[in-house]
Amino acid sequence: MEPLIRRPVGYMNDLMKKLLTVKSLKKYFPIYGGLLSRVMGQVKAVDDVSFDIYEGEILGLVGESGCGKTTVGRMTLRLMEPTSGNVYFEGEDIFALKRKELAKFRPKMQIIFQDPYSSLNPRFTVERIIGEAISVHLNITGKQLREKVESLMEKVGLSPLYINRYPHEFSGGQRQRIGIARALSLGPSYIICDEPVSALDVSIQAQIINLLQSLQEQENLSMLFISHDLSVVKHLSQRTAVMYLGKIVELARTDRLSNNSAHPYTQALLASQPSLDPKSRDRPPPLTGDVPTPLNPPSGCHFHPRCPKVMERCKNEIPRPIQLEEGHQVLCHLYDE
Ligand code: SF4
Repeated sequence: MEPLIRRPVGYMNDLMKKLLTVKSLKKYFPIYGGLLSRVMGQVKAVDDVSFDIYEGEILGLVGESGCGKTTVGRMTLRLMEPTSGNVYFEGEDIFALKRKELAKFRPKMQIIFQDPYSSLNPRFTVERIIGEAISVHLNITGKQLREKVESLMEKVGLSPLYINRYPHEFSGGQRQRIGIARALSLGPSYIICDEPVSALDVSIQAQIINLLQSLQEQENLSMLFISHDLSVVKHLSQRTAVMYLGKIVELARTDRLSNNSAHPYTQALLASQPSLDPKSRDRPPPLTGDVPTPLNPPSGCHFHPRCPKVMERCKNEIPRPIQLEEGHQVLCHLYDE
């Protein structure tokens, strides 16, 4: 297995430009019930989320299943409309754009899906899967299209000899490479990687992560890397946001988050990672209990029923974002004087 490359940190400087800004984004799903199908409640899947992504940066978004991270990712591509809030891409509010105006941005914003099995049309050849968007957006001949698809296949480590094959003829890792080539086909500047390795074998995961990393460096891509696995995010992203029940509870540079995490939930996630230290095997589990339902989240701090540092005020008062230092933000009463 190829070793994972650890990115250098301390890269942020004033010259870096924001590519994407997410401001107070909310997505509530209504729940209908009763004889008249009235709105009986709301699932607060995303509840007041804000962050920036800089040019050439990978931002990791981590949290347990159902915390709202995929919903955030899809809204940043306007694959889903928000309940409220804004997403600015290259300074344009994408929710205010008309369909035609949005179409101009589409080639620059792409997604790599979690499941390489269901995200590829089984009736299409590799040439058609990778080349479909190119033929829609660019006016090129069939020969040029084929050459472009072949070069994209080479870029992601697939032999162009397989250009006429169908998805079922490939392994999971190869299918994910096809998905990556498709995402790169129009030369995007922003890619969402939505759990791109969680459906793959561990040995293949490292190859795909290294491929994403080298492509990101070659093309200076910005990425939102969504995962439930903090160790994967730590290897790839320069900054990491931790989500819990629809809210970002901590956001910091990845090295700082690993060594000086402030939120009890981040600390629990870090403590739950496998360790080679035999002494750590007797440790009690860092977190107990399931994630509460977003339909009826706990009052005050949503994390309070599972928090080892819970205080009386946590049960009633919603914490506000606290800036611990430049670029390190936390949502916890422990730091609220
Ligand atoms: Fe724990 Fe209270 Fe902080 Fe929530 S606000 S994480 S319950 S200490």
